[in-house]
Amino acid sequence: MRATTRRELLHAALVAAGTGLLPACHRTSLGPPSERLPAYHPGEALPWRNWAANQGCRPVMRGAPENEAALADLLRTAQGVIRPVGAGHSFTALVPSDGTLVACDLMSGVLSADPDRLQAEVWAGTRLHQLGPALQAVGQAMPNLPDIAYQALGGAVATSTHGTGPSFGSLSSMLQGLALVTPAGDLIECSLEQNPEIFQAARCSLGALGVVSRMTLQNQRSFDLTETTSFEILEDVLDEIEKRREQHRHFEFYAFPHTGAAMVVATDEGRREPTPEVPVEGDPIHALRDAYRKVGGVPLLGSRLYESIVSDLGGTEPIVRSGPSFQVLTHVRIARFREMEYTVPSDAGPACLREILDTIRRERIPVIFPIEYRYVQRDDVWLSMFHDRDGCTISIHQFADEEYRPYFDSMERVFRKYEGRPHWGKLHTQDSQSLARLYPRWKDFLEVRESLDPAGRMLNEHLRSVFGVTRSAS
Ligand SMILES: Cc1cc2nc3c(=O)[nH]c(=O)nc-3n(C[C@H](O)[C@H](O)[C@H](O)COP(=O)(O)OP(=O)(O)OC[C@H]3O[C@@H](n4cnc5c(N)ncnc54)[C@H](O)[C@@H]3O)c2cc1C
Repeated sequence: MRATTRRELLHAALVAAGTGLLPACHRTSLGPPSERLPAYHPGEALPWRNWAANQGCRPVMRGAPENEAALADLLRTAQGVIRPVGAGHSFTALVPSDGTLVACDLMSGVLSADPDRLQAEVWAGTRLHQLGPALQAVGQAMPNLPDIAYQALGGAVATSTHGTGPSFGSLSSMLQGLALVTPAGDLIECSLEQNPEIFQAARCSLGALGVVSRMTLQNQRSFDLTETTSFEILEDVLDEIEKRREQHRHFEFYAFPHTGAAMVVATDEGRREPTPEVPVEGDPIHALRDAYRKVGGVPLLGSRLYESIVSDLGGTEPIVRSGPSFQVLTHVRIARFREMEYTVPSDAGPACLREILDTIRRERIPVIFPIEYRYVQRDDVWLSMFHDRDGCTISIHQFADEEYRPYFDSMERVFRKYEGRPHWGKLHTQDSQSLARLYPRWKDFLEVRESLDPAGRMLNEHLRSVFGVTRSAS
């Protein structure tokens, strides 16, 4: 194969896969088994594990109620610690319980749509990939989405999951109302007008208040988007970052550690002719890792050699994807990784990213996974990472078959210096004391939690540490 063709294929594959957080069906990295993952023994209850295969449990009971009455019964009578589960796409230990797991998978779909207000009431168990087409059928679309669509709406909202774009808040901010079934089995309808305190707590609850059964979304008329991805010099992008982020409906980039390169993704309304799909040979993110392993350690020249390999990708034409918004905003992610993400104040983003990249270089951290950089609008949701503050989110990843801890520990020190707030669903080491300092409405949330679940039946070990609750549920 000609070198150019190989380069073009690598480029196209990286772009198509959103930086190679990649399709890697022939070589999925599950990594060494985690000590948290229970083994399956025939005859015993089926263990649960998350997407990233770093969290697991062996619940004595799993429930998937078909309606709110059955959900209320289940919560009233559930054994042990009760944890709601969506699609298991959180990296943190939000879900594990050896008591009861509750899935809303059978409560899925659009309940009703209001064509004048462009609102829709939706079951919380609806997966985002089902929601896009279902809303399109009633002429609506969510204004923004995260970069994948595997999550359940209830799971995504519970962690303030977000996409990118300075004019768009997280999914939690798009809620107009919701129904919450408490651990006592009560059904509470809430909105800014009705039970407003519970509403503000339940819009991003970490599943600690009960189970959200349905929600009303503020949508917009369905629309098309075109995404253009190109390789650029990172410092050029950072130099004009304010202009870039305002110029496009959605804007983000991925910075390649040990290089000065960035993959820039700009998305705007309208349709354009998409770039023809290139058949992908092999697994580009592993190809990049192999390249780094071969040349990265070469004395004095290693980083330069690797940088030239990555920069070479910049010579090719931008890649264009176009279609209905829900298809363009979301991507395929199959290769396993572990992730940490912090939201820093919007204007601190460039300085924080530069310090992250400098630290990787200075400490010679052997990481090649590109670093994702996005913007999210402020909101008033009590535990949202964007509470009262426009945010810049910076996400770091490591392959699931590599040790991530020393890398993540080092980066977390930088994030904390910039008053970063950790994504609730992504790895972090903060506890109630440090988190309380980051959230002005922290105490208000704790009061609502205590009033709805005084016995702590919804709290597993992770949530007890997050909320500073020492006693266990009986
Ligand atoms: C490949 C990948 C890509 C990702 N991309 C993004 C991204 O672009 N942007 C972003 O912000 N995040 C992203 N994430 C993180 C992810 O969106 C969040 O962790 C999200 O919470 C996962 O949703 P889930 O349905 O898998 O929920 P789970 O991980 O199963 O659960 C998450 C939380 O929701 C609670 N919960 C679930 N259902 C309910 C309910 N009905 N009522 C109350 N609580 C409930 C659970 O108890 C838990 O606390 C990504 C994760 C992965 C693995």
